[in-house]
Amino acid sequence: MTRFLLLIVFFISVILTAQDIQSPSEFHGYELGTQFTRHYEVVDYYEYLAETDKARVKLIEYGQTNERRPLLLAFISSAENMRNLDAIREEHLKATKGEGNPDKAIVWLSYNVHGNESVSTEASMQTIYELLTIKSDYLENTIIIIDPCINPDGRDRYSNWYNQYKNTPNQVDPNSKEHNEGWWSGRSNHYMFDLNRDWAWLTQVESQHRLKVYNKWLPHIHVDFHEQGMNDPYYFAPAAQPYHEVITDFQVDFQKTIGKNHAKYFDANGWFYFTKERFDLFYPSYGDTYPTYNGAIGMTYEQGGSGRAGLGVITRNGDTLTLKDRIDHHHTTGLSTIEVATNNIEKLNSEFKKFYQNKRFKYKSYVLNGNADNLMALGKLLKKHEIHFGMAAKGTVKGFNYQTGKPGVLKVDENSIVVSTNQTKGTMVKVLFEPNAKLSDSLTYDITAWSLPYAYGLNALASENEVSIAAKVNENNSFFEGDTSGPFSNNDYAYVTDWNSMKDARFLTDLLQNNVTVKTTYSPFTLEGKKFKRGSLIITRADNKKIKAFTDTLKKIAQEHGKSLNTVSTGFVDSGKDFGSSYIQKIKQPKVAILSGGPTSTLRFGEVWHYFEQQLKYPISILDVAYIDNVDLVNYDIFILPDGRYSSYFTKEKLKNLKSWVRGGGKLIAIGGSIKGIDGDNGFGIKTKDLEKGAKDGVPMPYENTQRERMKNAITGAIFKAKVDITNPLAYGYNSEYFSLKLGNDAFQYLNSGNAVYLEDNTKPVSGFAGSEAQKKIKQTLVFGIEEHGRGQVIYLVDNPLFRGFWENGKLFFANALFMVN
Ligand SMILES: [Zn+2]
Repeated sequence: MTRFLLLIVFFISVILTAQDIQSPSEFHGYELGTQFTRHYEVVDYYEYLAETDKARVKLIEYGQTNERRPLLLAFISSAENMRNLDAIREEHLKATKGEGNPDKAIVWLSYNVHGNESVSTEASMQTIYELLTIKSDYLENTIIIIDPCINPDGRDRYSNWYNQYKNTPNQVDPNSKEHNEGWWSGRSNHYMFDLNRDWAWLTQVESQHRLKVYNKWLPHIHVDFHEQGMNDPYYFAPAAQPYHEVITDFQVDFQKTIGKNHAKYFDANGWFYFTKERFDLFYPSYGDTYPTYNGAIGMTYEQGGSGRAGLGVITRNGDTLTLKDRIDHHHTTGLSTIEVATNNIEKLNSEFKKFYQNKRFKYKSYVLNGNADNLMALGKLLKKHEIHFGMAAKGTVKGFNYQTGKPGVLKVDENSIVVSTNQTKGTMVKVLFEPNAKLSDSLTYDITAWSLPYAYGLNALASENEVSIAAKVNENNSFFEGDTSGPFSNNDYAYVTDWNSMKDARFLTDLLQNNVTVKTTYSPFTLEGKKFKRGSLIITRADNKKIKAFTDTLKKIAQEHGKSLNTVSTGFVDSGKDFGSSYIQKIKQPKVAILSGGPTSTLRFGEVWHYFEQQLKYPISILDVAYIDNVDLVNYDIFILPDGRYSSYFTKEKLKNLKSWVRGGGKLIAIGGSIKGIDGDNGFGIKTKDLEKGAKDGVPMPYENTQRERMKNAITGAIFKAKVDITNPLAYGYNSEYFSLKLGNDAFQYLNSGNAVYLEDNTKPVSGFAGSEAQKKIKQTLVFGIEEHGRGQVIYLVDNPLFRGFWENGKLFFANALFMVN
């Protein structure tokens, strides 16, 4: 063929492609914005695009949700770029090492992390369609990665619900059922986790799958599409204060550049918006901050609407907000973001390279040791973030000591790990490990502290010098395997093992569900030269006679959990209590139920649900408020009240029934806000501690300062050092100090007895912000405790150790509440 003919063929094919691609409206058979598109239909459309335009669209399934829905990523660029996609990616990643000459922008758009912020996925379809048709010039020098739905379980929960309850035609009256979703809303994922709080902790499958691909790309720009209340207009970058100090001037400026470009389109259309308010850049587990701390321009865009807006709704101003309006706005900012990227290729690439080169952080290395299981759990998290670490050499390291909060030393050895900021993910190391993140402004609605050494309950030291690594930890290393030693024979008298981590709790629940009888000790003992602490697990041959192939069963379970068992040939201890003593008690296999709906918080309920099914692997019954009054609690050994607002829930009658169930031998676990529902004269023994009202200053406070003034009473999430009574079964496996993440200023007096963890007089947070009045209020208050009540108990967890599933060192308290307190 001649060159001319080739050219003709080329143009014809381009024109045909453009004409051949169906818009989302054409494909689905309804105008976009007149229906909610279900996830499988969204998948169909993306598959259709990948099939129709093979040269410019590549679709991958990067995982599945709890409810087996596919998680998708679409890669879109020019045919030439798509042919070289791998090479472009590799060249881009070289920049994180200060190498390479990348010349493409990488823009990643994430939709619908909150399932009922339902416009996002619809907008994504219009956005990709226009990128392939009228905006295809953007594809020349930019790779666009679209995640049409981060949270398909939540989004389908919303859209299926909406389709069930909608009026025909849709009703714009906000009071109609279609605008009032109720408790089990589509915001969160299957386990009611907020996926936009999970980027750093990776407790959920969606986050775990996503981060694997995200780390392969590390885009220049990441946008997380959201919705806010239906009476608010639109929010886009630049973000509000506080900004984390690792955020560079360029990242701040470029947010402005993008925001101004959006404003141009919004102004031209007469649309309203706000910037620099409400949505800050501090907590590291969001879809804007996490990418930002990995070198991107990370942004949240918020359309007004959410689960209330439906297909159309009358807002406070009397306007009708339609799904079509919401799609228009989100698709405009999506394309505008890409437009800015295509016009700033060089800048984005040079600044991205700089971000990874400039790491002038105060602390160069973090050294940690202590609880081996928790250390391994931390290692697993680091691995998911592609943060490298190694084992220390024997010696002493100087620096900031986390336990004392002062300069000091830490003795280290080959069982200590070293995490250095001198690595590609060094900025994340700083953000996750530093003792106290610098807060430029205390007005933030999220937690202000998350330092991992406290969360994992480890001895730790932050060093201003780089600490040398004696041995690298990699796939082939035994670090992640655990110890499964322990000879087994059919003549052993018993097996004894320690109790100090979630790994041990999982081992126990597996044994119990295999009907193995397990005992624990309420008194420390020494046997055959070894010391065993309270809570140690004792498995005797005599207790398990009924189990066929007992030795093999036990050995198999121990190996699966990486548990080493100490074999003992006698129950006659060197010191302490013998195995026949009443201090050695059988651990029950309790039947557990939890309250859902009504007064409980969806997220706080979900944390307990996830803890049981995905962490402990232990069954739990979910009893909804709608019918709980018809359920006989006698069928259960343990009843859990998750955090929530219970002020009007517990009537006298309900409390009376609950009390008689506890007196009869039930175990009630009350978390956070639920304690306020059962305290006082009608309920149980615990008493609220109120803030002492001091005399007010003579000068009246200006109205504008109200919010700031309120901060004096606030704790939105900070870390405090608490005392532990290690003889209390609720605290088995712990040391005499515990760092607790406190999420509010609710305060309760010490119990008459049974205070397992409590705050003393020093209530200045070791990390994060706490208002001056709040610090006074929480002096001498309870953190965790047991109240005996007839034959049963109430266990109070004032702080929530399962919050967002990331406070690893708190989780054993919960396991103790289930299995050790009797
Ligand atoms: Zn949201």
